[in-house]
Amino acid sequence: MTAHNRDQVATRRYDELKAILEERRREIMSEVQGRMRDVRAEGANGAVQGVLDAAESSELDIQDEIEFALIQMKAETLNKIDEALRRLEEGTYGNCFECGDEISEKRLRALPFAVRCKDCEEAREVKVQRDRLMAQRRGAASLFIDMQG
Ligand SMILES: [Zn+2]
Repeated sequence: MTAHNRDQVATRRYDELKAILEERRREIMSEVQGRMRDVRAEGANGAVQGVLDAAESSELDIQDEIEFALIQMKAETLNKIDEALRRLEEGTYGNCFECGDEISEKRLRALPFAVRCKDCEEAREVKVQRDRLMAQRRGAASLFIDMQG
């Protein structure tokens, strides 16, 4: 592969990854804006009615809290996207944290914040499950010893 071809491949990948992140960013932005409009609209209704009994209004509060928590989560996702875009500029986005291979675009499209390639992630999950099983066995064993004591 010539240097020129290599540059072209890298540029194409950069463009595609950037498109994935920006598309996701747009989706979340419009979702957040939609939710904020809803919350404001509900707030206005509540003020006009002003006759809700305590139970109903506390139910509304909970709904508002859930709504705000959702918006907060979306805002955090937006931060992650911005961070990913920064890493993309630096050339460190989209490479596996473990083996350094490129993470496939398909995977990044589904999981934009994936830091491992599919193989490394699967290997890690197997390990996590094995560790959990070991911990459970140890837990069960110590419970047994406690009962003996
Ligand atoms: Zn890997």
